[in-house]
Amino acid sequence: MANELSIKNKDDDLYHGSGKTNAEIMRHSCEHVMAAAIMSFWPKAKRGVGPAIAKGFYQDAEIPGYKLVPEDLKKIEHKMDLIKKSKTPFVKLSKDIEDAINYEKEHNQQYKVEILQELKLKGEKEVTYYQTGDYIDLCRGPHVKDTSCIGFFKLDRLAGAYWRGDEKNPMLQRIYGLCFDTKDELVTYIWQMEEAKKRDHRILGKSLDLFVINENIGKGLPLLTPKGAKIRKIIEDYEYALGLKYGFEYVNTPHIARSEMYKKTGHWQHYKDVMYGSFGIENEEYVLKPMNCPHHYMIYASRQRSYRDLPIRYAESGTCYRYEKAGELSGLLRVRSLTIDDAHILMRDDQIEDEFKNCIEMVSKMFKAFNLKDYYVRLSLSDPSDAIKYIADSNIWDKASKKLEKIVIDNKLKYIIAKGEASFYGPKIDYIVKDSIGREWQMSTLQLDLFMGKRLNLVYVDKNGQEKHPVILHRGLTGSIERTLAILIEHYAGAFPLWLSPVQVKLIPISDRHINHVQKINQYLSDASIRVEIDSRNEPMQAKIRDATLQKVPFLGIIGDKEIEKSANNDICLSVRGRNNNNLGQISLTDFLEILNKNIEKKI
Ligand SMILES: [Zn+2]
Ligand SMILES: [Zn+2]
Repeated sequence: MANELSIKNKDDDLYHGSGKTNAEIMRHSCEHVMAAAIMSFWPKAKRGVGPAIAKGFYQDAEIPGYKLVPEDLKKIEHKMDLIKKSKTPFVKLSKDIEDAINYEKEHNQQYKVEILQELKLKGEKEVTYYQTGDYIDLCRGPHVKDTSCIGFFKLDRLAGAYWRGDEKNPMLQRIYGLCFDTKDELVTYIWQMEEAKKRDHRILGKSLDLFVINENIGKGLPLLTPKGAKIRKIIEDYEYALGLKYGFEYVNTPHIARSEMYKKTGHWQHYKDVMYGSFGIENEEYVLKPMNCPHHYMIYASRQRSYRDLPIRYAESGTCYRYEKAGELSGLLRVRSLTIDDAHILMRDDQIEDEFKNCIEMVSKMFKAFNLKDYYVRLSLSDPSDAIKYIADSNIWDKASKKLEKIVIDNKLKYIIAKGEASFYGPKIDYIVKDSIGREWQMSTLQLDLFMGKRLNLVYVDKNGQEKHPVILHRGLTGSIERTLAILIEHYAGAFPLWLSPVQVKLIPISDRHINHVQKINQYLSDASIRVEIDSRNEPMQAKIRDATLQKVPFLGIIGDKEIEKSANNDICLSVRGRNNNNLGQISLTDFLEILNKNIEKKI
């Protein structure tokens, strides 16, 4: 699995105990090498910070009297190559904080002076520096052993960034770099990014007219257009049918609830920062719901339940509202209103394995339908050292974690373990899915909850007439429908398979005299539940074909004199062009419908 956690250790001792992944350490070390190269060309550069980020690193710097241009990146890269080849060790040095301040002042590094003065205020007496050859930098570390260990890199782009992100401060120049353990990973990533640009769902969403985000409505609140809404409906219908097959019952619940409810569940304590609140209705405080769980629990609590009634599986496409920072919003991927294809299974202890198995099967079926073939799960467990984040009771946590790992193994799921990623109420399985260009997305989630039944006093009567608390499984089938829409737009590059296409067939009459004929075809296909449109605009045929191709419609039906001539009394003929040169030529309407239905059935 090509992910951060699987990158091999180059030198275990060196990384030990830093709390950073090896990739982070390698990327940050690569930044030192870049900073060294920058200083060799512009010795007066005043450096800001240079952290590792996902897939790479950046460095901020003020270069007096010079503005970097893209050609400089090649020059810096070349120098970095030389430093890498030199195999210069990273040497750790300690400095008294006063000496360090004086040192940075002498070298005109005002930003470093600022950092040091803050450290001094916090009571630091000594700081560490790392030296590679002539280059020396204030840094906490750790780093790789020597410069030859920095992996494969490419300087990616230039940007501007205010010192400490504050616009009152000077604007520094920022260089972003990519860095990977192997050349293969670097090349693949660069290719993925190029491909990703072509597939950007925000751009395709506009050109294919799937959704809009309007400032008057608000940031992060997507409006689905008729075509976008159609795709969502198809996904929801598919999930609905799948849910019924797997024994789920559908419920409907409102978008708001009393704050009191979330205080009882503990969401108020753990989730308050992302909840929109609060507003009053008749002296009671309400919030927009950040999740559907409590609403479903209260349906459960509305009647007496016996052990024979369990499992109870409530499902709902429930729209929730969560605060995301404006800077983090991104098309449909990160939004402030999201629809979770949610379900809550309330069950007995002895039903946990079967219910997970049921959900795991359902998720795998759904991925197959979306042609997402490659995925693994992240088994998210609690971090015992971070007790505040989790509901306390280490015995139950232990039991739940072991059970979940066994389920993952028994169901033959590829998995990695992530400590500290659990929900506050229990461990979970998160699905990480690879799209058609190999990018990873987090989608479905299955969460085990051993606490909430007791906390909310949800009960059932067991065999012996005793009251017991049910165990809960939270199931997000894809996670969120909005996010799924974004992922699928990029996965298919907007060319949805027939079963998901908002328009499946576009009919094009060659001239006005063919319109009657086209309308008959339209009626026939619509009656057979095919999503069909007629392009009756007064435009040349070639222009209509081009437009339909740009809209990535799977099939074009062209009708002119020849097709009418060929039509028999009871069966009309049309010329069909498929996307990607998949031409069916002249074909009878009944045969065409058969092909359509077959492809829809096969989900291709
Ligand atoms: Zn460093
Ligand atoms: Zn839930």
